[in-house]
Amino acid sequence: MKNLVMKFGGTSVGSVQALTQAANIVKDQAAHWDGVVVVVSAMSGVTNTLLQCAQAATRGDEDTYTRLISELRFKHLKVLDSLITNPSKGSDLTGMIEQHINELTAICSSVHVLGEITPRGLDTISSLGERMNARIFSALLNQCGVSSQPMNATQLIVTDSNFQNAHPLMEATRTKVQQNLVPLLEKGIVAVVTGFISANEEGITTTLGRGGSDYTSSILGDALDADEVWTWTDVDGVMSADPRIVPSARVIPELSFSEVGELAYFGAKVLHPKTIRPIIERNIPLWVKNTFNPSHPGTRISQNPSSAPGKVTAITTIRDLSMITVAGRGMLGVPGIAARTFSAVARQGTSVLMISQSSSEQSICFVIPTENSPEVIRSLEEEMALELMRKDIDRIWAQDNMVILTVIGAGMRETPGVSARVFGALGRSQINVIAIAQGSSEYSISMVVSAEDADHAIQQIHREVIENEKGSES
Ligand code: ADP
Ligand code: ASP
Ligand code: MG
Repeated sequence: MKNLVMKFGGTSVGSVQALTQAANIVKDQAAHWDGVVVVVSAMSGVTNTLLQCAQAATRGDEDTYTRLISELRFKHLKVLDSLITNPSKGSDLTGMIEQHINELTAICSSVHVLGEITPRGLDTISSLGERMNARIFSALLNQCGVSSQPMNATQLIVTDSNFQNAHPLMEATRTKVQQNLVPLLEKGIVAVVTGFISANEEGITTTLGRGGSDYTSSILGDALDADEVWTWTDVDGVMSADPRIVPSARVIPELSFSEVGELAYFGAKVLHPKTIRPIIERNIPLWVKNTFNPSHPGTRISQNPSSAPGKVTAITTIRDLSMITVAGRGMLGVPGIAARTFSAVARQGTSVLMISQSSSEQSICFVIPTENSPEVIRSLEEEMALELMRKDIDRIWAQDNMVILTVIGAGMRETPGVSARVFGALGRSQINVIAIAQGSSEYSISMVVSAEDADHAIQQIHREVIENEKGSES
């Protein structure tokens, strides 16, 4: 049986026109595959609005959450009204929307009373967008003559109880997929599964983290042993840079799993950073395609595509970061300082994005999200209290407004001169590089620059190193 998993992101299912376009794409593909699973996101903006409802309820702002809930209700009912032609189907779906909106209102009212919300509560609230949209999209497919059934991924994806960023338990997931999804596919029914959502072993709703619908599609691809996974979005594929920052960014026709892994980890929003994890071992090809330009082939991501030597494929950024420095002459040759530094960071649950230590061992620098900076500094000062008192460590401080720029390319491996080209481009633009790290995979080089230089630095590297093919071959 040849199976395809296709995911449609928020903008691809965020309006009447987009939903219609997406339904046509599914109809076309349903004719070519034995089994088709569709993963849908919430309509664009809906998950953000749901979370804003929760925030407003927490701070007791009833006017705001009531207004936001009625906006959500109106948005979904309006789409239904224009989309669904059969009056009895239309009224069923209207009832479904009203039921979800009532659920949201009830949760917000209790959050309002309690004045707080748990991560578990946030997952229940943020799951509502996908739950409504899967029902709408499945009904639309049926209306277009494609036999379809909606499905809540809580019936399929089993995770741990790490609410808001849950980790899938693949064996249990595989069992559920075999039980609940495969029979539908065998009957030729297109399953429309909620992206982003999952459930823990007790069946309580969890989510896979923001942007997690991409991850849903690859988890299901793995559990089904699908032949391909396609994610449909609003750009022609994975591009050499964020097209909002570099208008001349171009689509990359082929990428390796490792390159796309680095790209997503280092901030390219086009794929959730964990997307490739489930499919890399099974070597299931992943395509990124444009819902609004379906004849464009998009980007194919696989194990070992050909790559030109020395070629830099893409540049990406992570913003809103702080660089923490632990410095002091007394650190020289003292074993264990680095281990203690990172244990103190880990105790705060903060993940470190990049590390650099100077060879003199007089300082350790690392980069973390700015929102975690105050508690990390506090934790470090506690851990190093004795060293600070003895002046073995002079200072622990944070520099805010930092950005990590990462250049990526499998062809950079074992090719000298790539970093010289990158730093040359920055030097000619007078951009100061604050710290550097090369990924051990050699697929990437990351640099820290200040936020005010970031866009200019990306544009400069893109122009000189990526667009200038001639330069990249020299
Ligand atoms: P979806 O809702 O379909 O998941 P997202 O908004 O999450 O879509 O991701 C797609 C967006 O990612 C694009 O519209 C684009 O602006 C942005 N983006 C950032 N970096 C890249 C890149 N390197 N390639 C393509 N898109 C990128
Ligand atoms: N709707 C979810 C979000 O906005 C998941 C997704 O779109 O991938 O984060
Ligand atoms: Mg996304």
